[in-house]
Amino acid sequence: MPTVFKYDKGIKFLKKPENLTLIADPTTAKAANNCDAAFISHAHTDHSIAFPNEGIKVFATKIASELYEKLTSRKAKNTHFVEYDKSLKIEDIEVEFIQAGHLLGAAQIIFYFEDITVCYTGDLSTVDMISVPKATIPKEDIDILIIEATYGKSDLFFESRETIKISVLNWIAENLQKNRIPVINIGHLGGAQELIAFLNEMLSVDIYCDDRTSEINKIYKREGTNLQWNSFDILNDEEFKEKNSICLLPRAAKELPEFLKDHKTSRSIVTGQASRFAFSNFEQAFPFSMHANCNELLEHIKAINPKNVYTLYGFDSELSAIVRQKMKIPSRPLKLAKKKFTLEEFL
Ligand SMILES: [Zn+2]
Ligand SMILES: [Zn+2]
Repeated sequence: MPTVFKYDKGIKFLKKPENLTLIADPTTAKAANNCDAAFISHAHTDHSIAFPNEGIKVFATKIASELYEKLTSRKAKNTHFVEYDKSLKIEDIEVEFIQAGHLLGAAQIIFYFEDITVCYTGDLSTVDMISVPKATIPKEDIDILIIEATYGKSDLFFESRETIKISVLNWIAENLQKNRIPVINIGHLGGAQELIAFLNEMLSVDIYCDDRTSEINKIYKREGTNLQWNSFDILNDEEFKEKNSICLLPRAAKELPEFLKDHKTSRSIVTGQASRFAFSNFEQAFPFSMHANCNELLEHIKAINPKNVYTLYGFDSELSAIVRQKMKIPSRPLKLAKKKFTLEEFL
């Protein structure tokens, strides 16, 4: 019997005749319940909901589990730590985690079933960043690639990451000159650490972060990213120094923190979603992302050269159309294949 897989609140694999069920990145706590093992690609909460699930063996990198705990203030339970490039066995199925870029501890997960080898990328970045190395390419041949498509649409415009970072820098410098405090909304985990590392390299300024971001920064610092920042906490003991200070806020934060209320501020947001939306509440929106853009995703597919490509998240239909038409590789959004199991049945 062939191994079958489908999207059902996570990527589910069923190995016959043993009826062994594995799930990757379940999106509800329940989805993992009747599975033999769950695999978590990285700490972002749309992928990591299974961490506190006591009833199931969870496999993830140690850093993903630590970041999850800092990000959510919840405990990861029953987690088996996996190292990059070292395979482990679930019954007779070999599984390997390799670098995915994107975040510290993020992994692409390769499942070596008897009949097929499947690589699930999780979220991906394919260029080296300051805070995280780029995704690696699987060493073995891959039959089925399941790839994220968050920005998998060819007309989404991203300038180079360097150019966008320099635009952020210019905006900060302009505002500091005008004696306005630059306040930047940015994702707690991933974006914030990359931006702080960059600003630390380029500017001599004090960077203030909310406490959750600060806890995440500590893990990045321990792992070797040279980060300098102040937590909001420090302001319980010290005066806020207005001169040459920058403040980072969580991406969704609307209100300014109390200590900024009597100061002149300018607000911007840093998110890949700025390539799609206007964010008109902010003076500037910078489309910097820790995800691969469409061209980078296509390059990654080309380098892996799988037999079939399934796309997942974001612009899954758009990306799979490009893969079919331009790369001539059979491809479908994974979610479309809900009722039918394999691509062969589906096409
Ligand atoms: Zn992510
Ligand atoms: Zn994601």
